[in-house]
Amino acid sequence: LQASAAVHGERTALTFLTSVGGDDSVTAVTYAELFENVGRSANLLRNLGVGRRDVVAYLLPAVPETHYLLWGAESAGVAMPINPLLQAEEIAALLNAANAKVLVAFGPTAGVDIWAKARTARTLAPSVHTLMRLGGGEAPYADVDFATALAAASPVVEFSAPDLDDAAAYFHTGGTTGAPKLAIHTHRNQLAAAYGGSVAIGANVMDVMLNGLPMFHVAATIFGSLSMFVAGGQVLIPSPLGFRDPSVIANFWRIAARHRVTLLGGVPTSFAAALSQEVGTADLSTLRASVCGAALTPPAVADAVERVTRRPLREVYGMTECGGVICVDPVWADRVRGSAGLPVPFCEVQARRMVAGRPGEIRCAPGEVGGLVVRGPQVTPGYLQEEHNQSLFTDDGWLVTGDLGHVEPNGRVFITGRSKDLIIRGGHNIDPAVIENCLRTHPAVSDAAAVGMPDAYAGEIPVAYATLKPGKSATAEELQDFAAANVVERPASPRWVRVVDSLPLTAVGKPYKPALRADAAQGAL
Ligand code: ATP
Ligand code: MG
Repeated sequence: LQASAAVHGERTALTFLTSVGGDDSVTAVTYAELFENVGRSANLLRNLGVGRRDVVAYLLPAVPETHYLLWGAESAGVAMPINPLLQAEEIAALLNAANAKVLVAFGPTAGVDIWAKARTARTLAPSVHTLMRLGGGEAPYADVDFATALAAASPVVEFSAPDLDDAAAYFHTGGTTGAPKLAIHTHRNQLAAAYGGSVAIGANVMDVMLNGLPMFHVAATIFGSLSMFVAGGQVLIPSPLGFRDPSVIANFWRIAARHRVTLLGGVPTSFAAALSQEVGTADLSTLRASVCGAALTPPAVADAVERVTRRPLREVYGMTECGGVICVDPVWADRVRGSAGLPVPFCEVQARRMVAGRPGEIRCAPGEVGGLVVRGPQVTPGYLQEEHNQSLFTDDGWLVTGDLGHVEPNGRVFITGRSKDLIIRGGHNIDPAVIENCLRTHPAVSDAAAVGMPDAYAGEIPVAYATLKPGKSATAEELQDFAAANVVERPASPRWVRVVDSLPLTAVGKPYKPALRADAAQGAL
């Protein structure tokens, strides 16, 4: 940030829409202002006693001040962004695991209970000595008010900068497969991920990236922000709630046109929501590409985005443990639909033969599906919770992603599923993606998710949940017959398909399989 402020001082780093739909009032923050406020924030945290290894946790929406706090916390100590949608007990578990000293939360707001959660979590986490309010309504129980303390703090940082191998942040994983784990990010990890992503998408000073993703996730903070900041580009935050704000989706294409967006950032669900809106007369001529990650973009969504925007959709494959960036469909190679792209510079990906459910030492042949492993400067040194680290690396030091896929001789990576999601039916390994992709080809199906249902005889039997496209109809029996007729392997034929209004999703819009598994298990009783 210091380097960017020196080079790009008067350029806009952040634009924040304070009212969407009306006049689109804008708050613009230059690089010089961003750097000054980050410095003030670092100093104010030091004044609160935050040292190099002390953790500053936050529960915050997407507002410019969240950036001041996040990057300030990383320069004074260690930042820990937390998903405000977690329960107070889950938040407290993360605070305790990290021995957090300061908790920053959005003040009380009608209909939003972040503040109440923060207060409860604090009572359960004795290491927290300061509860700070940032934004939102007056908070009688706050020890410190961020805006007041920020204004009073000096912008000149007097303490020494962290080392590249010091911890910068603890990011919790999405919790898609279980309780969230805290991945340690060093400064080197984050810079490597940011530069890797930045180079791969050709980020530059002309760019305006629309970023409506939640500020506790690597997609919003590292790929969606730091990748722009290292290149002198601009980050456009459409609302504190981001893409979860219905007015942002209703005005999606108008916002893109009006603010001359060059890169549309998002996740498959945000693009799917945007596609429900007419582009109308919105002029999207400044657009360069869409960038989509967090889960494989369904080909139908990717095709529709490209048709509407007349620009490429670049897939981003990342995980919290790698600063959110492993592969990108880079600007220097042709895109291949269904591929997760190429590893970013200095990063390597291999598919390994699975041994006892883990990637072993033997590399797969080109095209052969195995466990994906990663090596590179953005790879975390480990989780904060030691108990999760035994299975994190292979014997020869590569990070086990938990994803299944294959790598082509030219390095292109394809992801087919997750090893934890595998359904094991009487000894047959079934990748749920096989069933999901099959159901998605049915004309009435919008999305599908398959899980294993416990079975006394076969161990597990695949079952599936499907949502339908608006105005289309299909019965559960029809879909089951369709799947049985079209899945390639017989064991993958689901026992039943249930039509549902919506799939349970994680905060970044991935089907939340533990909930489906629990539901299926009840059905099995
Ligand atoms: P948890 O580890 O707690 O179960 P999570 O893995 O969903 O949660 P994240 O780190 O947010 O948490 O997500 C990383 C995972 O998301 C990857 O391991 C991969 O399974 C999936 N993923 C991300 N991007 C893509 C992509 N472009 N294509 C396919 N899968 C992707
Ligand atoms: Mg994971």
